[in-house]
Parts: sequence; structure tokens; C-alpha cells
Amino acid sequence: EPLLSLHGASKSYTLGGNTIRALHSVDLALARGEIAAVTGPSGSGKSTLLNLCGLLDKPDGGELLFDGEPLPAEHEARRTRLRRQAIGFVFQGFNLVPVMTAHDNIDYPLYLLGVSAAERRQRVLQALERVGLAGLGGHKPDQLSGGQRQRVAIARAIVKRPRLVIADEPTANLDAQTASQIVGLMRALAHHDGTTFLVATHDDRMLPHCDRALLLDDGVLKGTFHAH
Ligand code: ADP
Ligand code: ADP
Repeated sequence: EPLLSLHGASKSYTLGGNTIRALHSVDLALARGEIAAVTGPSGSGKSTLLNLCGLLDKPDGGELLFDGEPLPAEHEARRTRLRRQAIGFVFQGFNLVPVMTAHDNIDYPLYLLGVSAAERRQRVLQALERVGLAGLGGHKPDQLSGGQRQRVAIARAIVKRPRLVIADEPTANLDAQTASQIVGLMRALAHHDGTTFLVATHDDRMLPHCDRALLLDDGVLKGTFHAH
């Protein structure tokens, strides 16, 4: 059974009397532990697809199932709880809090979930180690390299032990070697922990490291191909 599936999912935006169909009847199943890339030109619907799968937004047609469970639009509380507990987000440009140390940036989602201080400390240290930053928890973002900051952002996304991680252009602005390490890290986490990654990217360097690429063209999922 897939972790997440979309059946005929559509999404439109209305802007100044015009309706823009951002996604047209998308069928998609994300397996547990897979790393799937979403590619396609600007405006093709990548962010919209990420927002639907991340439960940040809901389809206005079709159906979404998370872990086999239908999540109809009216189940707002269930959607919010799942998003907080089961989904991690990695944004382009890291979105780290500059005045907080790496440790505290990673700790924050656990604090919001009400996890005890002792367990938070143990899980933050483990997440730092997982992303190869053991010992650097006391550094603030401006004391870290671009690749290290992206590792902090990934640690923050995985510290909740999410089932699904949504990443938007996670290798933008990173040099080739750092980008390849970041994808390698995501792949290791996907395969080791069974976390599913859905990654929007323009970066051709990422595709060979992903299990599968999904191609969007003007809101239509044109097909999926195995990157290796
Ligand atoms: P991508 O991430 O591939 O660039 P998006 O999902 O952001 O594509 O956008 C798909 C289409 O939906 C585009 O035509 C875009 O202009 C439109 N769109 C996206 N978000 C909104 C919004 N909040 N309001 C109106 N139109 C939007
Ligand atoms: P590639 O697939 O590009 O050969 P690897 O998967 O070997 O790369 O690792 C890429 C990066 O991810 C390296 O910096 C490595 O330290 C890190 N890494 C690999 N496996 C793990 C893991 N299980 N947990 C945390 N980091 C890992």
C-alpha cells in the first residue's frame, strides 16, 4: 500500500475572475521509502503538487489518501495533525532562524509538538549525527557553510521522524559536490529509515540519485520514469 496517493486530483486558482487550472486530474502513488523527484518547467504545477502532498492545501477535485486513509477536505483537524506529526518540510533557502543555534533550530518543531526536554535533547543530537553535523549544534546558521545549513534544514525536517518529507529545490544554490552530498544524504535517510521524499527540482544532477522522476507539463502529470 502506498504512503500517499492521489486519484484524479485537480487544483484551480481563481485570480481576478480568471480560473487557472494548476493541476489536472493527477494520479500518483508514493511508496514508503522512495525518493521521487518532481520536474517540469516553471508554472507547470510543481509547488501546487507539493502543497497537496504536504497537506498544506487540498485538491478541489479528486481524492487524496494518506496511509490508506481518505482525507476529505472537511477533515481539517486530521489534516493539520498529520501535517504536524507526519510530514517534514525542507525549503529552498533553508528558512533557518538566524539568531538560533543549529541545535535550537532543529529542536523547535519538537518543542511545538510538546515533546519532553530530555527526549528532545536526545533526538536533536541524533538528528545532528544523522546529517553529519555531530559537534556543530552550537553554531548559528551564519557560522555554517551552505551545505551545512541545508543539512540543518534536513535535520529539522526529520527530527519529528516524519513519514514524508517534502523538499522544494533543496540543492538550489549549492555547488555540485555539496548538492550531490545532500541528495546522497536524503537517499540514505529514505532507504535507512523508510522515509518517503518528494522533491521538486530543476537540478538535473539530482535525478540519477532519485528512485523516480515525475514530469509535470502544464498541470498534467505526463508520466513517471525511473531515473536508474
Ligand atoms: P511551479 O511550482 O511548477 O512553478 P506552481 O504550482 O507554482 O508551478 O503554479 C502552477 C500554476 O498555478 C501557474 O500558472 C501559477 O501561476 C498558478 N498559481 C500558483 N499558485 C497560485 C495562486 N496562489 N494564485 C493564483 N495562481 C496560482
Ligand atoms: P552517494 O550516494 O552520492 O555516493 P552517500 O549516500 O554515500 O553518497 O552519502 C552522501 C552523504 O550522506 C555523505 O556526506 C554521507 O556522510 C551522508 N550519509 C550517508 N549515509 C548516511 C546515513 N545513514 N545517515 C546520515 N548521513 C549519511
